[in-house]
Amino acid sequence: MIQVSNKIKRYMKLAKKISLLSCLRFKVGAVLVRNNIILATAENLRKTHPRFGSGPYYSLHAEGHVIWKAIRKNIEITNSTIYVYRSNGGLAKPCKYCQDILKEFNIKAIYSNGTKEEFSCMDK
Ligand SMILES: [Zn+2]
Repeated sequence: MIQVSNKIKRYMKLAKKISLLSCLRFKVGAVLVRNNIILATAENLRKTHPRFGSGPYYSLHAEGHVIWKAIRKNIEITNSTIYVYRSNGGLAKPCKYCQDILKEFNIKAIYSNGTKEEFSCMDK
């Protein structure tokens, strides 16, 4: 559990909105923020990516997708924070593969699984 600020709630609310764009059963939304600026947003997708894809999973996770979107536009993402919302109430913590990507770019993750107003933090 972490100290939940209005800022966290605001970004998580946006991540929730983004998650609704997903066509998958387990909808996940991610918002990448740096210095109070939203760099990119993304949902999980029914396809994958050789570098930002999610290991053996058949989908591109929202975490990898949002990083890929930012990188593609040459946006500097080191030391940013990712807000991840997972709609199904399951484990919201980024999977091992996404954690590796987040570590590579020194990104801190704040996540919520949507069942309660509860947020967790994974330090970079
Ligand atoms: Zn993942």
